[in-house]
Amino acid sequence: MRNNVKKSLTELDQRHFIHPTSSIKQQQEHGPAFIFTEGDGIYLKDNNGRELIDAMSSLWNVNIGYGRKELGKAAQQQMDTLAFSSAFSTFSHEPAIRLSEKLAELAPDGLNAVFLTSGGSESNDSAFKLARHYWKLRDQPERKKIISRQRAYHGVSSGSTSATGIPQFWEMAGLLSTDFIHADTPYELGTAQAIASIRNLIENEGPETIAAFVAEPVQGAGGIIIPPDDYFQEIRKLCDEYGILFIADEVITGFGRTGTMFGLEHWGVVPDMMTLAKGITSGYIPQGGVMVSDEIHETLKEKSEGTLFHGFTYSGHPTACAVALKNIEIIENENLVENSKEMGDEMLNGFRSIKDKIDIIGNVRSLGLLGAVELVEDPSTNKRFSPSLKVAPRVVEILAERGMICRSVTYDSTDIITFAPPLIINKEQIDNMIEILYDSILEVRREKNI
Ligand code: PMP
Repeated sequence: MRNNVKKSLTELDQRHFIHPTSSIKQQQEHGPAFIFTEGDGIYLKDNNGRELIDAMSSLWNVNIGYGRKELGKAAQQQMDTLAFSSAFSTFSHEPAIRLSEKLAELAPDGLNAVFLTSGGSESNDSAFKLARHYWKLRDQPERKKIISRQRAYHGVSSGSTSATGIPQFWEMAGLLSTDFIHADTPYELGTAQAIASIRNLIENEGPETIAAFVAEPVQGAGGIIIPPDDYFQEIRKLCDEYGILFIADEVITGFGRTGTMFGLEHWGVVPDMMTLAKGITSGYIPQGGVMVSDEIHETLKEKSEGTLFHGFTYSGHPTACAVALKNIEIIENENLVENSKEMGDEMLNGFRSIKDKIDIIGNVRSLGLLGAVELVEDPSTNKRFSPSLKVAPRVVEILAERGMICRSVTYDSTDIITFAPPLIINKEQIDNMIEILYDSILEVRREKNI
C-alpha cells in the first residue's frame, strides 16, 4: 500500500511539480529524493516510515524544530478571527503592530521600524529599493549601486539575484541589474586584504554612486564563511567613511542561529538595515522583513511627501505575524539562543575530534549552530580534491542513507558539508550527528580510495 502511494506520488511529482533549486534531470530519472510526511523535533519522517535527523533545519529555517502545535494554534486563532486584511493605505491590525514592536525590542539599538515581507528575497529587494529611495530623499539620487560579495546568497528575485555572488544563479537571466557589483569574500582572506578589495571597488566605481553594501554576517549557501574577527568593524568604518548604507542580511543568522539573537551581535556592529526571514517563523509560515535605522525612518517620515510605492499583498499578513510572535516567544522562553551557543560549541568540538582521526578533513568551523566541515586531499596544504570525484556530494548521499540530512557546497571546487540543525538539539543528538558524519566520511574515503 505504502509503495503504491509512493509510486503514484512519485509519478505525479515528476509530471507536475517543478521543484525550486533542484536538478530536474535527477527528478525525472529517480523521482523526488524524499517524500516527507511528518516532522518532530530535529527529525523528519518520510512516506516509507524512515526517520532522519534534519541537520539543515530544512533550509536553515526550522529553528524551533518540527511539530510545535502552539504555532498551529496561533495560526488557527488568527485565521478564525481575521485571517487576512491588507496593510496598504495605512490600514492596520494588531498582529502586525505587535510583531513590529517585538522586532524593535529584539533588534540592536537604533533599529526600531520594520517593513514586512513574506521571505528573504522580498526583504533584500525591499532593502535595496529603500536604500535608493533614501538617497533620493537625501538629494543624492546618483547613489544607486549596491556592493555585495562573491559567494553571497541573497535570494532569487530581481535585485537579490543580482546581489547573489554565486554565478550559477545568474544563468537563467544573466545578471539582472548592472547596478550590482561583487567584491571579494573574506573566505581564505585576512581582514586587511578583504577590506582593501572593497575599498578599491568603491574608489573605482565612485563612492558618490554607491547606495549600500550588503553582507550576510556568516555567508550561508556560499559555504558557511565566518569572517575574521575584526572584519565587520572594518566594514562599518568603511561604510561610514564613504557614507554608504550597510545592509546586514540576517535571513539565516537571525533568531538565534549563530548563538546570538542576530549574527552581527558577535562583533558589536549595528547595521543601517537588517533583512529577516526564515527563523522569524521557523518556516511554519512565510514571513520576512527589513528593519531600518531611526535615521532612515526619520528621513522617510520627514521627507516623503506622498506614498511609498512599494508593498506586497502579504506585507504584514496577520496570520503570519501571529505565528512569528508565537515562534519568537518559544525562542525566548526556552532559551534557544543560549542553547544554540552551547550546542554549537559541542558540535564544533565534535568536528574537531573527528578531524583528528580522518586525514581528509580540512578546516572545520561553527558559529552557534551554523557550521561546516571541509574535505580536502591534503589538510596541511588545503589542496582540494578534483571536482570530478564529487567527494562532498557523495558524503551527503551516504549521510542520508545513514539517517542524516546535510548539504554540500561545491562552488569553486570546494567540498564543504554544511550543518544547521534545529536550535532545540541536545548533546546526545549532537553526538549522534558526529558519529554518523564520522562513519559516512570514512565510507566515502574507502569507496573512492582517497
Ligand atoms: N538571504 C540569505 C542569506 C538566504 O540564505 C536566503 C535563502 N536561503 C535568502 C536571502 C532568500 O530567502 P528566500 O528564499 O526566503 O527568498
